[in-house]
Amino acid sequence: MSTLLRPPLLHHFLSVRLRGTAAPRTWPVEPPAATCRGHDPGDPAQAALLTFEDPQAFRVKSVWELVRALSVFRFCSYPLLVKHCGKLMSVARAMLGRRGFSFFVRPTVYAQFVAGETESEISTSMEKMSSLGLRPMLAVPIEEDLGESTGEHRYDNNLASMLECVRISHSSTWSKDPMMQLKITALIRPELCVKLTSLMKEEHYDLDLLVRAMNGEPISFPGLLESENTHFLLGLRRLDKIAQASVNKVRVLVDAEYTYMNPALSLITMAMMKKFNQESSWIWNTYQCYLKDSRSLLLEDIRLSQEHSFCLGVKLVRGAYMDKERKLANQEGWTDPVHQSWEDTNCSYNGSLDILLNLISQNPGRYQIIVATHNENSVRHTAIRMGVLGIQRDGGSVCFGQLLGMCDHVSLTLAQQGFAVYKSVPYGSVDDTLPYLVRRAQENRTVLQGIRKERDLLRQELRRRIRHRLTGHS
Ligand SMILES: Cc1cc2nc3c(=O)[nH]c(=O)nc-3n(C[C@H](O)[C@H](O)[C@H](O)COP(=O)(O)OP(=O)(O)OC[C@H]3O[C@@H](n4cnc5c(N)ncnc54)[C@H](O)[C@@H]3O)c2cc1C
Repeated sequence: MSTLLRPPLLHHFLSVRLRGTAAPRTWPVEPPAATCRGHDPGDPAQAALLTFEDPQAFRVKSVWELVRALSVFRFCSYPLLVKHCGKLMSVARAMLGRRGFSFFVRPTVYAQFVAGETESEISTSMEKMSSLGLRPMLAVPIEEDLGESTGEHRYDNNLASMLECVRISHSSTWSKDPMMQLKITALIRPELCVKLTSLMKEEHYDLDLLVRAMNGEPISFPGLLESENTHFLLGLRRLDKIAQASVNKVRVLVDAEYTYMNPALSLITMAMMKKFNQESSWIWNTYQCYLKDSRSLLLEDIRLSQEHSFCLGVKLVRGAYMDKERKLANQEGWTDPVHQSWEDTNCSYNGSLDILLNLISQNPGRYQIIVATHNENSVRHTAIRMGVLGIQRDGGSVCFGQLLGMCDHVSLTLAQQGFAVYKSVPYGSVDDTLPYLVRRAQENRTVLQGIRKERDLLRQELRRRIRHRLTGHS
């Protein structure tokens, strides 16, 4: 594996972080129309097309892939195992040694959720995905939170990994209209993002000022110490390099993180959009609908994009850091920023979705959205509204996103129906990706614990194969 391909070791990410979701799964629960104003029931005939109950979606998987997915999901169905999987993995690694541990993990958990380590392994996984009608959204598993900041050299290494990700994303035949994910805190210190967020309450940071800094002007940002200003300028230049390399090749989706730094991340992302999204959305922002103010944040950014005349790319998610946001609010005596219930979050999600779909139907070139969710109701709702509003399934304005190895019954069915579907794909060595996987497992534990339907469909397909072997009939 090239050193650029390999993200830096992330051992510190094994430190326990509180996040994830706590909602009991009573799936599917469509929020009642009374609490979710603006919901259109849509065309029931179209909805029926997307029941996600056809085990045929799994015919493309090998027997081993079916068995592997069933075993991994079985493991993930135990909340205690998921909660402590980081510690369990560390103990197993210490007992088995690096090679022994890799021998055990590589064909199982790693193969389920990671594309591979070398460029040729990644290409093989991506070619397979592409043959199933799925598109890649590569993700370099690098991220930092408060107290984990490292020197400028480390951020430059991260820049090199990201540029490598841009190159891999668009270098092959499998990469039709590719996307990649980017975490700003891999390139700019989280502490600085927090400081900027609090400064933004008093100072106005103009998008043009950031654009000029990206262009190399030695701007002095109000409220920052000299060393912070220097680091900010370097960080903006790093982001500029990634965007320059991506334009007309790869769409860069900037992740949303914690509320104590999101305003700064959004400001930076909007400035990148202003510079690079004149013709099309090459830079996208993420909106976390579990936040009570997510609707107003989205509306404000729509207004900004209109005022500054650039295209807006939106990744719509529910949000991954609920437990930590709530814990922090509780500790600090702040109002909980997260909606009170899963149903409220669903309402918020589908409401924001409707706003964007309406805008897209009026002006498809100006707005683009990725419906990044495993929630069948939101996916179905999108498909219905697209039909009602006359938005093309693969017209480039609306696409869907799920994590690699999760909810394939949703992704494959959508792809078979002609929708554009992306899988978020981490890559790297076992050591590099495992901490990232542990985090994702904990963030998505309610999704993982709720995928009973996927397990049932996998089992059905497995039984069908055994029957076919024994009797010759399906
Ligand atoms: C391609 C892709 C990119 C992503 N990028 C990001 C990102 O940049 N930033 C980010 O934060 N997340 C991101 N996520 C993760 C996402 O936010 C969700 O954590 C994850 O997808 C689960 O939500 P869901 O809609 O798939 O599933 P669902 O099961 O429908 O929803 C689970 C989610 O609902 C919310 N929820 C659960 N219980 C409650 C409750 N009691 N009260 C209020 N809300 C509740 C939580 O957000 C929880 O994650 C991404 C996901 C994908 C697939």
